[in-house]
Amino acid sequence: MNNLDRMSQNLLQLLEQQDPDVARLLADEAGRQETTLELIASENHVSSAVMHAAGSWLTNKYAEGYPGKRYYGGCEFHDQIEDLARDRAKELFGCGFANVQPHSGANANVAAFMAMCKPGDRILSLPIKSGGHLSHGLKPNFSGTFYDIVEYDLDPETELLDYDEIGRIARETKPNMIICGFSAYPRTIDFEAFRRIADEVGAVLMADIAHIAGLVAAGVHPSPLPHAHVVTTTTHKTLRGPRGGLVLTNDEEVAKLVDRKVFPGSQGGPLMHIIAAKAVAFGEALDPSFKTYSAQVVANARALASALVGRGYRLCSGGTDNHLMLVDLQPRDAALTGADAERWLESAGIITNKNGIPNDPRPPMVTSGLRLGASALTTRGFDEDAMVEVAELLDRVMGSQGDESTCRTVREEVRALCSRYPLPH
Ligand SMILES: *Cc1c(COP(=O)(O)O)cnc(C)c1O
Repeated sequence: MNNLDRMSQNLLQLLEQQDPDVARLLADEAGRQETTLELIASENHVSSAVMHAAGSWLTNKYAEGYPGKRYYGGCEFHDQIEDLARDRAKELFGCGFANVQPHSGANANVAAFMAMCKPGDRILSLPIKSGGHLSHGLKPNFSGTFYDIVEYDLDPETELLDYDEIGRIARETKPNMIICGFSAYPRTIDFEAFRRIADEVGAVLMADIAHIAGLVAAGVHPSPLPHAHVVTTTTHKTLRGPRGGLVLTNDEEVAKLVDRKVFPGSQGGPLMHIIAAKAVAFGEALDPSFKTYSAQVVANARALASALVGRGYRLCSGGTDNHLMLVDLQPRDAALTGADAERWLESAGIITNKNGIPNDPRPPMVTSGLRLGASALTTRGFDEDAMVEVAELLDRVMGSQGDESTCRTVREEVRALCSRYPLPH
């Protein structure tokens, strides 16, 4: 039960005495994380330091406002913590401004939209079915409700961004804002090309780097910051911090607007315990070891990708440049769906998510694809050889049509692999 040591034993004992029901469920979840292979591209394992900060005294405090300008007394240390988090974020991404208060990536996007656009303004983005995010314009989301959304798509042949075509659509639709940055795009994003298109049509450029923020911070993916007017991200994916959001910019006018649109525009009191945990995570990401980690994430994604291709799967766009890949299951087995694969793999201790592939013939709750990411396994110390073993386990489960005894055997091999690579403390 390695993962249990990651929480202070004292605190856990206290919780066990006071609320054994919750304590038991937390212990169960810690055990699940310790003994399963986490391949969800948007997840990671934070350090004990990040977890401790997130579970700290700061949860007790109201600190509406910003350092030096709060609506409540007693914020002396909260001011220093938020300043530290902002300064570290600026250093990490090499920019002049950071707002660390958004509760999540979607909340960061609410503030960015409100800062850059008026209700009803036209926004050009990639739809969710092609790898975009629901907060980029899906109808039931705030973004699709209050803005006039127009779409670009991937090239149907290459499954890559087609910058000429995006430029043509931009000239035709004249958007006020263009969004780049995605949830399921395995390739490098050319932020400079997006900026050229935005400039040509007089639009502002928003880059949502929720997935690749850690890679950007480590310099293994180009940064949007010289190009985008506003950058939003989560802090919990490749960046390996607590669940939360972040807004960055180099433009002083945009910075003022973003601060106002986060608070009081769209949030009340900031989650100061989470801001403390963000500060810790940014500190970790500033350490040279984070560059090594991030380079290994990309190397591991490549190793997993090529091992899967070797076993008859097709990768959308033909491969990966970042931490994730979108696996088309059809060439391996035309009857195999993403939903079946996800369920069978979970029973074998391998955690994934079904994901639509570009122009997927199946509905979103079924799909023909799986999205796999290497960030969490790399945190456990997996190397390229271990990723080849993971590919083999994935294929045994999917190739067996979820056969129960195969899944049981793989479940034991997964446990053994997990104990070879315990979660770091
Ligand atoms: C994950 C993600 C988000 C949303 O993050 P939440 O913290 O879940 O709100 C926003 N944009 C993109 C591109 C994402 O992948």
